[in-house]
Amino acid sequence: MTTGHSELSAILRRARTALVSGHVNPDGDSVGSALACYHLLTGQGIATTLYSIDPFPYNFLFLPGADRMSHELPAEEPDLYLIVDAGAPHRVGEPLHRRLQNTKSPKILFDHHVNYHDQGSFFDQTFIDEHAAATAILLYRFITDQGLPMTREIAVALYAAVMADTGSMRYDSTDREAFLALGELVAWVDPWAVAAKIWEETPLAQLRLLGEVLSSIRLLAGGKAAVFEITQEQLRRYRLGPDHVDGFINYARGIEGVEVAMRFREIGPRLYRVSMRSKGSIDAGRISHEFGGGGHRNAAGFDFSGSFDEACQLVEEIVARVAR
Ligand code: 5GP
Ligand code: MN
Repeated sequence: MTTGHSELSAILRRARTALVSGHVNPDGDSVGSALACYHLLTGQGIATTLYSIDPFPYNFLFLPGADRMSHELPAEEPDLYLIVDAGAPHRVGEPLHRRLQNTKSPKILFDHHVNYHDQGSFFDQTFIDEHAAATAILLYRFITDQGLPMTREIAVALYAAVMADTGSMRYDSTDREAFLALGELVAWVDPWAVAAKIWEETPLAQLRLLGEVLSSIRLLAGGKAAVFEITQEQLRRYRLGPDHVDGFINYARGIEGVEVAMRFREIGPRLYRVSMRSKGSIDAGRISHEFGGGGHRNAAGFDFSGSFDEACQLVEEIVARVAR
């Protein structure tokens, strides 16, 4: 038994209300982990707000309870804040971040990001393990360690979260613990039904845009870097949101000889949201941290201000510095 776990159990026994949140532009781990918490807490009789600053990605809306998500913070202060997968306190979004800075209620964090942001001094209790394959694994540890009841709703949320964050159990973070957890969770889950919802209902417009984007990939730094841009005009023209283009970067990383892929998604004039994916020796999290972002060794992100050509120049410089 982990001491932290039983302390959290004691907090849960006293709480009547709670708020659960993941991070901006939530991914599958953020959504699945938040939903698992939501079902866990409501199952304990705690009236829980499932908050998100941004919409859930379209392909995770099938998860039970996803329709309870609210963009509104409750007027009353909840007895407990439970934050999952955020990477940094401010990544819950401005309004909730401000609340968290001023509240007297306990703030709990479950996260598997590298702790660049000293989250331990911001939260009252943290469960951080950068080696965990997903934040959902940390919740699975808590639930099993404390003997809390597993339900179908919780299991499917955790299962989807782990599958999403490990690239279906392929990425470097995939380990025995993740396989063992899925082995237990699959008692409640139909793997094909979940996979079909997440990966087999792609809008045709998304594939058409992917085609356009793949044709525009630039190889830089002697072929070690693959970069591409997604403009606001493209998203408008194809009527797609950011959730539709999140997976595109994996094609760029998958190119022979490429060690790092970078996607520049335009979010304003001379402003880009950058996603990095690496394989081999390049530490994407550390590079992102230099630019005010963060993440993991092989997957990270940050905001970049400048033109796309300036961005390409920057990539040349970074790769020249860090590639071996
Ligand atoms: P993505 O490229 O999918 O947005 O992010 C890759 C990984 O890096 C995810 O685990 C994500 O949570 C993390 N990440 C992305 N952007 C940021 C950022 O600006 N700050 C921090 N701390 N983590 C980020
Ligand atoms: Mn995430």
